[in-house]
Amino acid sequence: QEEQYRARFSGSAALFGRAQRLFPSGLTHDARYLEPFPVYAARAAGAHKWDVDGHELIDYWMGHGALLLGHAHPTLVEAVTAQVARGTHLGANHPLEVEWAELVQALMPAVERIRFTNSGTEATQLAMRLARAYTGRTRIVKFQGHFHGWHDTAAAGGAVRPAGIPEEVMEAALVVPPNEPRVLEEALRSHPDVAGVIIEPGGGAWGELPVRAQFLHDVRDLTERYGVVLIFDEVVTGFRMAPGGAQQYYGIRPDLVCLGKILCGGLPGGAVGGRAEIVDLLAFTGDPARDARKVAHLGTFNANPLSAAAGIAMLRQVQTGEPTRQAAQLNARLVAALNEVLERRRVKGFVYGLSSWFHVALGTEGERQADGSWWPLTTAGAGAELAAQGLVQRLRRAMLLEGVDLMRNGGFLSTAHTLADLEATAQAFDR
Ligand code: PMP
Repeated sequence: QEEQYRARFSGSAALFGRAQRLFPSGLTHDARYLEPFPVYAARAAGAHKWDVDGHELIDYWMGHGALLLGHAHPTLVEAVTAQVARGTHLGANHPLEVEWAELVQALMPAVERIRFTNSGTEATQLAMRLARAYTGRTRIVKFQGHFHGWHDTAAAGGAVRPAGIPEEVMEAALVVPPNEPRVLEEALRSHPDVAGVIIEPGGGAWGELPVRAQFLHDVRDLTERYGVVLIFDEVVTGFRMAPGGAQQYYGIRPDLVCLGKILCGGLPGGAVGGRAEIVDLLAFTGDPARDARKVAHLGTFNANPLSAAAGIAMLRQVQTGEPTRQAAQLNARLVAALNEVLERRRVKGFVYGLSSWFHVALGTEGERQADGSWWPLTTAGAGAELAAQGLVQRLRRAMLLEGVDLMRNGGFLSTAHTLADLEATAQAFDR
């Protein structure tokens, strides 16, 4: 397989050769690692992208989940192109940021105030800082396997300590297992220094580790009872699980919401929104002594006009409810088709997912839910299990040779995927 791969993607191999003299591991994003080298994409449209050798690939990365409408959606291209000519950075407040924020507020009633950032990572960092400032406490509770970006506190608290993170920062994070309300309650009871609880409400690592709806309600109840700020990291779920995100899907009002990806229509950015009395800790009071101690946040490209233009065009579509519904429907069909392949081939494993994302689990048992869908039994995640067996790399390479670009052990659906794409994907998986 590896030889075939090297021959097929020779243009990518050449670029990777140059990249290795430039970037650590030849990469600009850790998650794009693939042995012996990753594929270099030249352009994309709809649900497809073309590599530098001219192969057409069905894309399930979809901009790491940012492209709910697919690549180069005409409305977004038009909005961004028009704005480029009007100025990419105005060095001023601008009308688009107001319109953009109003759209978010209309979709997410919990967003009483909002501050735009440059990434989802910056959004979770700012949310944690706000939670600390609001409560006067330091510790952040996180859930095992949940991803909140790469900054120090987001990366801290796991079983292993990634290099370069101070011990004190590690200790400021407390990791508990998801779906265990009693463990969370004990953590909050025994740690009066907890400022906030952050959770991916769609499940850890974009749903690879699903969370039970009841658990989310328990988290809301417990954080309220212990006076702890509840942060929903909706970087993935926002505008995807429902037009109003997981908070609308589950009917839960968090204190703070982190946004990114779809928010910016495929351009860079993010945001923190939430209760006015918390987000307003960013506000100036007019008293220089007090303002020097307020929550600080800057950023040259905050609410930049290009991301705003793309975000507005995206959220106007999201508002109709169509994109969410359509992508979820396509996802359900793909999951069913892939499961049909595994069953017919008598392969131990299952494919699962919610909303418009899916994950492939191979060699492990799952639990069949009442509605027929699958639920993983592993607490490490199907991807981790597959990775441990070296299967993610082989699956990804095999699918690329068949013209399908999976994101790790799964991917994201968009409104641009067609039934023909799903059919071709299932056939590729079968082969
Ligand atoms: N939170 C979640 C749930 C995410 O999935 C991601 C990105 N995959 C982030 C935060 C970080 O966002 P960004 O990559 O824009 O920094």
